[in-house]
Amino acid sequence: MNKLDDNCIFCKIIKNEIPSITVYEDDQVKAFLDISQVTPGHTLVIPKTHVENIFEYNDKLAAAVFAKIPMIAKAIKSSNPDIKGMNICQNNGALAYQSVMHSHIHLVPRYSNDDGFSMTWADNTNNYTSEQLQTIANAIKDNVEE
Ligand code: AMP
Ligand code: ZN
Repeated sequence: MNKLDDNCIFCKIIKNEIPSITVYEDDQVKAFLDISQVTPGHTLVIPKTHVENIFEYNDKLAAAVFAKIPMIAKAIKSSNPDIKGMNICQNNGALAYQSVMHSHIHLVPRYSNDDGFSMTWADNTNNYTSEQLQTIANAIKDNVEE
């Protein structure tokens, strides 16, 4: 049973209360053009149930949503011969740049180095000992709940 939130803009899109330009949908997933079009074809994939972020997914919902990403990515790529690559990203939490609190996955087709999309990654390779890395890994491992 899909649960929707009356105050959520993406739930309103699911209910067709506000318009969207759909590229794919099934019972559990909807994919539509992001209004900001960072690059042409920029698409959002959302679950048709209101979950705020990745931390609220269970395996079943993840299987329904993430299984569709390659199919939608391939459709976007095939739609335009100028697409040379694609960034797929999901922001979880305001600190991580999430602005709409209904989980969504961005598919951003890439055309060139200066097509409007960029990411910055710090490189801290030399700032960690293997012991420090192992300590971090152990803390994560201790919290895996299958
Ligand atoms: P994020 O910052 O990861 O939460 O991304 C939210 C995205 O939703 C932004 O890229 C917005 O452009 C997009 N967005 C917000 N409202 C709409 C809308 N009504 N239709 C399509 N995309 C939207
Ligand atoms: Zn919602």
